[in-house]
Amino acid sequence: RASAEKFEFQAEVSRLMDILINSLYSNKDIFLRELISNASDALDKIRFLALTDKEVLGEGDNTKLEIQIKLDKEKKILSIRDRGVGMTKEDLRKNLGTIAKSGTSAFVEKMQTSGDLNLIGQFGVGFYSVYLVADYVEVISKHNDDKQYVWESKADGAFAISEDTWNEPLGRGTEIRLHLRDEAGEYLDELKLKELVKKYSEFINFPINLWASKEVEKEVPADEDESIDEEETSCLLNELFHPSCSLCMENRVVRTGENCETESSSSEEEGEEEDAEKAEDEKKPKTKTVKETTYEWELLNDMKAIWLRSPKEVTDEEYNKFYHSLAKDFSEDKPMAWSHFNAEGDVEFKAVLFIPPKAPHDLYESYYNTKQSNLKLYVRRVFISDEFNELLPKYLNFLMGLVDSDTLPLNVSREMLQQHSSLKTIKKKLIRKALDMIRKLAEEDPDETNDKEKRDVEESSEEKEKKGQYAKFWNEFGKSIKLGIIEDATNRNRLAKLLRFETTKSDGKLTSLDQYISRMKSSQKDIFYITGASKEQLEKSPFLERLNKKDYEVIFFTDPVDEYLMQYLMDYEDKKFQNVSKEGLKLKDSKTKELKESFKGLTKWWKTTLASDNVEDVKISNRLADTPCVVVTSKYGWSAYMEKIMHSQTL
Ligand code: ADP
Ligand code: MG
Repeated sequence: RASAEKFEFQAEVSRLMDILINSLYSNKDIFLRELISNASDALDKIRFLALTDKEVLGEGDNTKLEIQIKLDKEKKILSIRDRGVGMTKEDLRKNLGTIAKSGTSAFVEKMQTSGDLNLIGQFGVGFYSVYLVADYVEVISKHNDDKQYVWESKADGAFAISEDTWNEPLGRGTEIRLHLRDEAGEYLDELKLKELVKKYSEFINFPINLWASKEVEKEVPADEDESIDEEETSCLLNELFHPSCSLCMENRVVRTGENCETESSSSEEEGEEEDAEKAEDEKKPKTKTVKETTYEWELLNDMKAIWLRSPKEVTDEEYNKFYHSLAKDFSEDKPMAWSHFNAEGDVEFKAVLFIPPKAPHDLYESYYNTKQSNLKLYVRRVFISDEFNELLPKYLNFLMGLVDSDTLPLNVSREMLQQHSSLKTIKKKLIRKALDMIRKLAEEDPDETNDKEKRDVEESSEEKEKKGQYAKFWNEFGKSIKLGIIEDATNRNRLAKLLRFETTKSDGKLTSLDQYISRMKSSQKDIFYITGASKEQLEKSPFLERLNKKDYEVIFFTDPVDEYLMQYLMDYEDKKFQNVSKEGLKLKDSKTKELKESFKGLTKWWKTTLASDNVEDVKISNRLADTPCVVVTSKYGWSAYMEKIMHSQTL
């Protein structure tokens, strides 16, 4: 079109589209759920705007917040339409031409090698999956603030935007027309589309309607056939819909050519003798049945709001599916756990929390700056936001889920909502429930029990499935628990219970503080630990010589965050933590006093020789067995390992 403005895709997008259009990836189905998910997002947006300004919805059909799917089998076009917020010309250019989300280039790279597209929706590029099945795509869109525009591209590095002067006005919203490739013909099959919507879009909160064909049997007056005139016989030519044919137009139904043929054969009987005809007429039934194909909107989803149902009624399978749709994760992996509850009292809300099977790609990336919550906030079933950081503390950002509150007001701005006093209560309860869920994950894991007999007893299949689940959780999200101990003083003890680590006696397995305490010797007052870069390195440390000999257990902390962690974790169950490489280690030994006395001279000599700015003190110690001496750090100073970390950070 002459009036079209041409643009080039951002290089990144172009590369992604190249990969998609040449992809041999077998699960091309995913494009549909991405489009439906976008339509649903757009509907959420307009519904949210309408909370404070009813006018934005307009009137008539515009107020119907729905998604429509239509097929044109002849032209091989599949179109998906929503009455959502729509896009202005500028939106079209920006949203469908550039990538805003970080981490996308990493995804593109990964996809190139692994070919796995299941997570495309998590990377903010789901739209482009249309090029798995189409070689030409039109996006027609009407936003309240702009005219109607058409965006189009053949995935050849460029796209065009034109003011739409030829399509039917949309009123408001977006229609995506996919010109399907020959090998994507299966998506012109209604049954296939129904199956896909069922599979992937079950939890979409807006009606999804398919313009579906239906074979119906219809009684028509038997002699009506005879009135078929010349023009109507053109239906015989297998035209699906013939507007000038009165039968075809009847009830605005579409008739198949086959049906017309039966009728025309009776119309050929016209030349028969009148008498015979009359006699025949009496015998003939007054009506006859013809098969017709009609089209009507068919609702494909039942808009299940799982969270409004009683947890007892929801099956595991349903929770799994719900998780996948929330997380936009369509891999086979199931969530590790979930918690579905109904909070009552001053502040009422329902919530579902999930522990994902894997940590999201960017969970700890620039943790303190960018990462935001994965909780969706609804107020009385109306989606408000998924960027609400007031619901969960940062360290629980790995959780996925949803909160629907009856207490929060509906008709206020997001900013006002963020300051609402109920949020504090909601947050408190969510944290509690989340920590309970994690604790249960450990309690139900046969690997976690102290009781050896119980561990070795023959397991039911359910127990087998739970075996090792906490170690899996710990591998993915252990760091979050540690960050929690640092950040959340109120729940520090609860979080410390969830800590896992290896020790000098854990035999390569993970152990907990409770297990450590249960194994403590009667003479032992403190919890011993040592920090360093790896367990292998620490095992050789002279600091452990004496402790090992005396059969004390020592915790290995080998994650850089552990150093910070131990500055916040002072005690647990009335036991103090003692870094065995630091001053203050007290091991019961009757000879210490004598030794101190007899080596007084040597100690003094050492101290003066090593001038006071090199060492703070020189002491007789009973922490060593074979090594003659060791450098210990002071109680409140940094450990040697911490020095190393800080040093590498300032470099
Ligand atoms: P994401 O949905 O994760 O943002 P997509 O690639 O699926 O990424 O979509 C990109 C953007 O295009 C969306 O963020 C949205 O702004 C816009 N968009 C896509 N489809 C629609 C639609 N049906 N209505 C309005 N805006 C849309
Ligand atoms: Mg999307």
